[in-house]
Amino acid sequence: MMKDRLRKLLCEMMMIPGLSGHEGRVRRYLKERLEELGLSTRTDMLGNLIATIDGDPALPSVMLFTHMDQLGFVVRKIEPDGFIRLERLGGVPERALASQAVLLCVGEGRDRPGIIANKSHHATAPEEKYKVVPYMDLYVDAGFGSAAEVRAAGIDIGTPIIYRPAVMELGGDRIAGTAADDRAGCAVLVEAARAIAEAKAGPMVHIVFSVQEEFNLRGAVTAAQVLMPDIAIQLDLILASDTPDMGYRGEVRLGGGPAMSLYSFHGRGTLNGTIPHPAMVSLFEEAAGRLSLPLQRSAHTGALTDSSYVQLVGGGVASIDLGFPMRYTHSSLELCDLNDLEGLTRLLAAGIGGIDSTFSLDRDDHIR
Ligand SMILES: [Zn+2]
Repeated sequence: MMKDRLRKLLCEMMMIPGLSGHEGRVRRYLKERLEELGLSTRTDMLGNLIATIDGDPALPSVMLFTHMDQLGFVVRKIEPDGFIRLERLGGVPERALASQAVLLCVGEGRDRPGIIANKSHHATAPEEKYKVVPYMDLYVDAGFGSAAEVRAAGIDIGTPIIYRPAVMELGGDRIAGTAADDRAGCAVLVEAARAIAEAKAGPMVHIVFSVQEEFNLRGAVTAAQVLMPDIAIQLDLILASDTPDMGYRGEVRLGGGPAMSLYSFHGRGTLNGTIPHPAMVSLFEEAAGRLSLPLQRSAHTGALTDSSYVQLVGGGVASIDLGFPMRYTHSSLELCDLNDLEGLTRLLAAGIGGIDSTFSLDRDDHIR
């Protein structure tokens, strides 16, 4: 069953550390999964994992991609008394850091757990109680009594640190855990690759598991520059807005099916985002219609994906962001629904299968 395979892939990948720039262990896992499907893989200089499924050369080629890295920290300083200072890597929510469990990624079998210290409550003054402590002032206690002990454990400046990997199977088919962003996308992409390879028809599809998205959103660009696809389909979370604190943001519901972004813009200094190519919007609307699958819509500022940069490669790439609804983004425990992952997988296979000789990327065919 597809849903059982998605569950296994997601739960296994949530437990594998893969900070941006340090994706090796996740890449090795995914490489094995692709090889099980009979797909051969290659890795570029940045670490992107690429597999190509051959198709009709007369049809526009597709790059179907998702990122395999996760946000976290690196060691900034080791204090003489053995406490470890953090530098942030990616969009870490500072107000949700104190008292989190972390994992210092020294190497397989040598990783060390630690906790981001929270000042003892009994010593917390009233004026400190509702204050967020900046990450610069936080420290990790990994049980060491001196800097020498820390270094003897293999921990040094630059050592990757992630939220301690965890998976919780909640009610229904909902799963909470570490880096659902974007291991859920990776699980979907493995299953989508299976479906596309089995279809043995349609366009050439390059499957890309990309790197460093949480760092600078440009890891996928090197893959696109070599593959030069006509179409780029990016998979990642879509912000769910069905919790008490998020209602004003939009209409995306967890468990309500896959979603597509009609507009994204970062809006915090990065003048970038993605407005999808109209042919891609129609393609997936029609595919969802054929499957009688609900397709949710998202449009807001505050987030962007690496499709923002991939769309600018060469003479331009017809791009779209598709995804699964997710709650509590970038927290140590993120929440997604397996039914949405299954729907997204089916949507991808049907949409890509719908790219035939009648499909046009000519903007003039899509004037409304
Ligand atoms: Zn992501």
